[in-house]
Amino acid sequence: MIIYVEEKANPKQLEILKEWLNDIGVEVHSLASEKGTILGLLGETQNVDVDLVQGLDIVKKVVKVKEPYKSSNRKFHPEDTVIQIGNAKVGGGNFAAIAGPCSVESTEQICNIAKAVKAAGASMLRGGAFKPRTSPYSFQGLRSKGIELLLYAKQMTGMPIVSEIMDIGNIDVFEHVDVIQIGARNMQNFELLKEIGRTDKVILLKRGLANTLKEFLMSAEYIMASGNENVILCERGIRTFETATRNTLDVSAIPLLKQMSHLPVIVDPSHASGIAGLVRPLALAAVAAGADGIMVEVHNDPEHALCDGPQSIKPEAFKSLMEDILKVRGVLF
Ligand code: PEP
Ligand code: MN
Repeated sequence: MIIYVEEKANPKQLEILKEWLNDIGVEVHSLASEKGTILGLLGETQNVDVDLVQGLDIVKKVVKVKEPYKSSNRKFHPEDTVIQIGNAKVGGGNFAAIAGPCSVESTEQICNIAKAVKAAGASMLRGGAFKPRTSPYSFQGLRSKGIELLLYAKQMTGMPIVSEIMDIGNIDVFEHVDVIQIGARNMQNFELLKEIGRTDKVILLKRGLANTLKEFLMSAEYIMASGNENVILCERGIRTFETATRNTLDVSAIPLLKQMSHLPVIVDPSHASGIAGLVRPLALAAVAAGADGIMVEVHNDPEHALCDGPQSIKPEAFKSLMEDILKVRGVLF
């Protein structure tokens, strides 16, 4: 439920309303804007007498939110959420380019790529350390050592870093990781979502391989309901009958998610296609569709990458992609 409060509402009356709502078991999220305060209500909203609230002088209107996602709902928070990560910002017109290898492999590899993507205009460095691989016989990542190497690259370049967590038991290792990724396979690992929601980290939540947008937002809701509102949504392609690409990029998810939610929406064209040659066109399509950022796998030697080489682009291609993104954004936004 949402209460739209009059612009010139008496602050004392507004306080009394909030206290009363708290007393009847309702959690109040207050958002002040130029058009007046919006109160987003969670919890025991069945205790609210809508007619009574509607009749108050300071109340413009009361709206019931029928969607099961509340905190992530655009109705709760009409303005775009802007998330700041070091010097980078994402959302509300701020575009973030996250780039780096699928997996951290060595000091030399991560540092070379980090320098190159920074020079090309990336605002954050990605690198997997704990890898969710389909086969137990595939490279599983350097684990804690991988995070150590990422931290070294962060220190060297000043770029914030993004890495995936699979088990909350490893959270200590992520102390200095700026953005924690919840991968597609864990989008509905509700215990992990609840635990990560208790941290104050920025969370990059990837859409599950076969999940609807509603389910995606319900997963964001799990994180937010535990107290962490710093969630970035990432469309990374979904399973369809098409086998020519690894997944199918759901371009319509970008404008739809932005209508449904105030959270930033970024796109991963690398996992969406699985093909290096498709990364540029898909990234540009995502930008044109209004994405707040992209996350791209970049490798200095894709032929010998330990993970996802076929979908990794070289630093030169990333540089040229960044130039094209600036052009597309310059024309459209
Ligand atoms: C990744 O980003 O390296 C990854 C494993 O992505 P996803 O969870 O989207 O498959
Ligand atoms: Mn990958």
